[in-house]
Amino acid sequence: MPFTRREWLQAPGCIRIQFLFNFYREVHSQWRYCNKSDSWIKQKIYMTSVSPHKKAKALKPTSRRPAKELCSECGLCDTYYIHYVKEACAFINQQIGELEEETHTRSRHLENPDELYFGVHQDMIAARKQQPIEGAQWTGIVSSIAIEMLNRGLVEGVVCVQNTKEDRFQPMPIIARTPEEILAARVNKPTLSPNLSVLEQIEKSGMKRLLVIGVGCQIQALRAVEKQLGLEKLYVLGTPCVDNVNRAGLQKFLETTSRSPDTVVHYEFMQDFRVHFKHEDGSSETVPFFGLKTNQLKDVFAPSCMSCFDYVNSLADLVVGYMGAPFGWQWIVVRNDTGKEMLDLVKDQLDTQPVMSKGNRKEAVQQSIPAYDKGVTLPMWAAKLMGVVIEKIGPKGLEYARFSIDSHFTRNYLYVKRNHPEKLEAHVPEFAKRIVGQYKLPE
Ligand code: FAD
Ligand code: SF4
Repeated sequence: MPFTRREWLQAPGCIRIQFLFNFYREVHSQWRYCNKSDSWIKQKIYMTSVSPHKKAKALKPTSRRPAKELCSECGLCDTYYIHYVKEACAFINQQIGELEEETHTRSRHLENPDELYFGVHQDMIAARKQQPIEGAQWTGIVSSIAIEMLNRGLVEGVVCVQNTKEDRFQPMPIIARTPEEILAARVNKPTLSPNLSVLEQIEKSGMKRLLVIGVGCQIQALRAVEKQLGLEKLYVLGTPCVDNVNRAGLQKFLETTSRSPDTVVHYEFMQDFRVHFKHEDGSSETVPFFGLKTNQLKDVFAPSCMSCFDYVNSLADLVVGYMGAPFGWQWIVVRNDTGKEMLDLVKDQLDTQPVMSKGNRKEAVQQSIPAYDKGVTLPMWAAKLMGVVIEKIGPKGLEYARFSIDSHFTRNYLYVKRNHPEKLEAHVPEFAKRIVGQYKLPE
């Protein structure tokens, strides 16, 4: 909305000066490169004169967050957008259906089995880069899309996560403005990351076109405040996310699971039912899921992740993961036209194939529910044997993704029911209730 005359006259001097400065800078920089029409300038005046949104004082890093123990440290509360936390926080106000409608023009069709699981989409494919990016989590499709968008001038900045100098797993969100800065953010930092803590910088910088890379809880809060950011265009590139941890939890996971926790540079829970670790010296290590010390690891995952039902990042324009693709490939979900535009930028750099689905997950999920609940851990020889058998006959492609979603949603449903029963009804989205409803759960 533009300023009304009255609002303009009443606005403090500093706001008026900042507005005029931003407006001048924007028009001046665009005018140098393009010969735009009068209507473009009028549109610009309209878009730059966003009425000042409401702000509140950001919380100190040590202060307790409004979502209390369920906080995923998404970063919103580190900014003045904390003003919107009651509506925006994924753990205070679950609103995936409403935000799907705003973002994709409709919520998912619950009667369509693929949409029930994977959310609103117009296409799904498996892909991998013909020339993978060295050191990326998989083949680097996420970093490649971000670099193309920046190089082609579609965006002025990219919100992504580098790590601190001292600790390779300590996330450090940034707004990247060069391909080098995007590349330095490649590979997962497998810990809760306050990506939205950079939101104030966007408004201050006067940036109008932005790409945000993030996981589901970050993206839900982002979508809820999207209109307040004063952007012309927001692109959202999401990854699926599950079982995240804080830094101390990560250390415990590595120490409990890997033969050499201090040299791990990268790990992933893969479609072959094993955790794959990569070490500094280039060697790899695999540990079967069924050999994980579940009794020791039960409290390692963050409470936010134990109560999350947005594994597939429902509100991103484009999602890049791996779990619905054959081993070694990445899984891509195009949710809307914006997502298609983003994927098209790198299509000529990719090998692609249609998604496939094989096997039947249901019995394996049903059997794993009480086993996980009781913290059963198999001896390593039995876990390895089971891993080999299940790799041969177990679910593949989209059926593996459904296996993973079912296992996590049933576990998380039990967690919320036992620890936050008052939240159960509103916090669990309808699609997740239907998925969980297929299984018999312990009390
Ligand atoms: P790269 O080119 O290496 O880029 C990775 C991008 O991830 C970077 O841009 C970086 O900014 C961003 N990033 C890194 N750490 C974080 C973080 N903590 N929070 C937000 N953004 C971050 N896929 C699945 O299919 N199933 C899963 O269960 C699954 N779990 C995941 C859990 C986490 C915490 C994360 C971050 C991702 C997860 N993914 C999962 C996605 C998958 O592991 C890859 O990130 C994705 O396939 C992209 O690979 P890439 O090689 O294209 O990424
Ligand atoms: Fe704030 Fe994000 Fe934590 Fe919710 S999850 S309380 S929005 S920092």
